Formats: sequence, structure tokens, C-alpha cells
Amino acid sequence: MKIAILGAMEEEISPILSMLGEYEKIEYAENIYYKSNYAGHDIVLAYSKIGKVNATMTATIMLEKFECKTLLFTGVAGSLNPSLKIGDILYATKTAQHDLDITAFGHPYGYVPGISIFEETSDRLNDLARNIAREEDLNLLGGVVASGDQFICEDNEREWIRQTFGADAVEMEGAAVARVCAAYKIPFFLMRAISDESGKNADVDFNEFLDNSAKISAKFVLKMVENI
Ligand code: SAH
Repeated sequence: MKIAILGAMEEEISPILSMLGEYEKIEYAENIYYKSNYAGHDIVLAYSKIGKVNATMTATIMLEKFECKTLLFTGVAGSLNPSLKIGDILYATKTAQHDLDITAFGHPYGYVPGISIFEETSDRLNDLARNIAREEDLNLLGGVVASGDQFICEDNEREWIRQTFGADAVEMEGAAVARVCAAYKIPFFLMRAISDESGKNADVDFNEFLDNSAKISAKFVLKMVENI
């Protein structure tokens, strides 16, 4: 199967790139796509750059131009659920856009007419992730991931997102990629390792733990590829 692996930042995909060995580099629409082969699958790997717009564009290109048939996202996130500590991993059961606001018209936060607030991820891929975690004896939480175009590093914002969406983690791309995959009916898996706790030290923690958490997520996503 042709599998897309997407991250937002270079640090999130470089651990995968170094494990792929040989790859072909294709430049397209101001981005680089790495084509390779791993565990019997064709792989297209890229980082989109930060934010929902960039993630939407790269995910669409991976499905349209490169014809990928499943998409795995790897990266880091800030935790909202206090049981998630730095270095812990979670997969998204569903996603929401926390910065989408047409409440002026009486709609709930995150609501887009014609689409619901939450996007679902692939049950089959989530089952696979739980099996891998069990086999590897890893603690893996399934939860709600909220996405928006802000780095959350303020306690009030953190609490608002947690309560409004029942979210366990916050980041800046997942819900956008979930929307693209839902529209194309492509199975989507969203994995995040915690880099910070989205509160007042989040920027400092993020810088300190980005590389390590990105590696933890990347390693897990490659295990997913081995088992698809
Ligand atoms: N250090 C970067 C900016 C990182 S933005 C720079 O200076 O260029 C944060 C990235 O990590 C986003 O891709 C987002 O998806 C994720 N992320 C991690 N913690 C987050 C948080 N607390 N709030 C929002 N996004 C977070």
C-alpha cells in the first residue's frame, strides 16, 4: 500500500528519514516529498510546516498527486489531560478545530455548517496502534486532539480548550489533516508525543523536549507501517 507519513516540522520527520535509508526527493509547491520503501510499502514522507493551512495543503498533495491510500501523522503536542506527561504518547480518536468560531450565529465552537465539530480517525488503525502498544508494553492513550493556529502556553486558554472540546491534547495541524482525509475517504491515524503541558512554561519545555518527543512518535509510526 502507498502510505503517506506527515509531520509539521523537520524534527518530526527526520528520525523517519534516517531510518528509511534510500529515498527519492521530489520538490513540489514549495515543499519536499521523500519517496521511499519500508516494510514492503511505498512511502511518501513530508513535513508541511506549521499550522492548519500548510498541513491541509501538504495532506491534499499527498493524496492527489502522490495517490497515497492511507495517512499517518507523526508529531508532538501540548497536553491538556493532566495524566499526559512529557514524553507520553496519544492517538486521536477524534479531532476538532478549537479556533473555528461562528458562535455569533448561535452555533457551538468548532462547528462548520455541513460538517460536524469533530472529525473521526480510522478505527482500524487505532486498533492496530493499541495492539502495538500492548505488544511493546507502552502506555498509549486514545483521546480528543484539538487543533488551532496558536501555540497554547497560557493556563486560561489551556483550560478553555480542554473544557469546551473535552480535549486531551492541543496542537496546530491534526484537525486539518483529519478533514482532508475524511473528504477523500482515506484512513487517517494521528499520533502525538507530548512535548509540553500547554501552560506557562510550554515554550521552554517545547524547546527542550521537541527532539526526544518527536523521536518517540516517529518510532511508533514506523511500527505502524511495519504492521499495516
Ligand atoms: N519552535 C517552532 C514553533 C513551534 S509551534 C519555531 O520557532 O519555529 C508548535 C508545534 O508543535 C506545532 O506544529 C504544533 O502542532 C505542536 N505543538 C506542541 N505543543 C503545542 C502547544 N502547546 N500548542 C500548540 N501546538 C503545539
